[in-house]
Amino acid sequence: MPRTINRKAAKKPGEEGGGDFDVLKWPAAKRPPKRTRLRIGIHTSTSGGVALAAERAYRLGCNALQIFSSSPRQWRGVSIRPEQSDEMQRSRATYDLAPLVVHTNYLVNVCSATPLFRAKSIAAFRGEVERALSLKAEYLVLHPGSFRGMTREEGLRTAAESIAKSVEGLDLAAGGLQILIENTAGAEFSLGGSFEQVGELLERLRPVVPVGACIDTCHTHVAGYDITSDTGYEETLRQLQATIGLEHVRVWHCNDAKKPCGSKLDRHEHIGQGTIGKKPFQRLLNDPRLAHAAFIAETPIDEPGDDLRNVEALKKLVSGP
Ligand SMILES: [Zn+2]
Ligand SMILES: [Zn+2]
Repeated sequence: MPRTINRKAAKKPGEEGGGDFDVLKWPAAKRPPKRTRLRIGIHTSTSGGVALAAERAYRLGCNALQIFSSSPRQWRGVSIRPEQSDEMQRSRATYDLAPLVVHTNYLVNVCSATPLFRAKSIAAFRGEVERALSLKAEYLVLHPGSFRGMTREEGLRTAAESIAKSVEGLDLAAGGLQILIENTAGAEFSLGGSFEQVGELLERLRPVVPVGACIDTCHTHVAGYDITSDTGYEETLRQLQATIGLEHVRVWHCNDAKKPCGSKLDRHEHIGQGTIGKKPFQRLLNDPRLAHAAFIAETPIDEPGDDLRNVEALKKLVSGP
């Protein structure tokens, strides 16, 4: 997700204010939406209760979804009530929605150089893990954070230690939950701007907790990897395979970019309308090496229906059923 808020964008995913922006307020479709064999979804609002996200995702034509399990800009998360969890389970079974991906809130910085901030982040991330377990989510996505005030090596070590501390006594494997480290746009002091850094963090975490990676197309592109040319795409995937392993990439965040390759500026754009364009998404979605992954959009919602249109744009690029 973008760390900087674009004030001009009317709404961010997960912050829809209702009204026309909310698919639940639209007249229900007469026929069930067409879905793909591939798992495709979008970051979905939990407004009105976490389980309503499943209904929204279904109506948007998704067969996978991502949510925030509590307010993305507040430290204190509210625990999930059992009836909410049950309802989420029921809806997911009815609509065949999987995986459920939970995105960690924006405040958490597990490699902060400030002890107080780090302690708050560890407590908050533990809450994220607990809620993801209550919701029976498959994945919990985490940005590795900012190591400002430390070296990158110290940042890596601190991030791994903080994550280990957060999950102490919690059985993620038994709950079927995996933590996914997301690659970042590569801004100064931000950890995870290269596949190597994500891979290194995964290595450190592997003995402690079930882990994998989430690769964001916008972050990859603005961090300087070429995913737009045929040869660039192949080379980027070769590097991804060498550092993280394609089988460990469980989720792809599918976002076009407003800023150019190498700009390090994280601004998401509608699928096909940015500096990445349609073709790379088509390549990605039809690459048999990636078919095990889920593809989740985190695109802006500037106009009512943008979420539906971005999901459709992705589905249209999938060849075959
Ligand atoms: Zn982003
Ligand atoms: Zn992302």
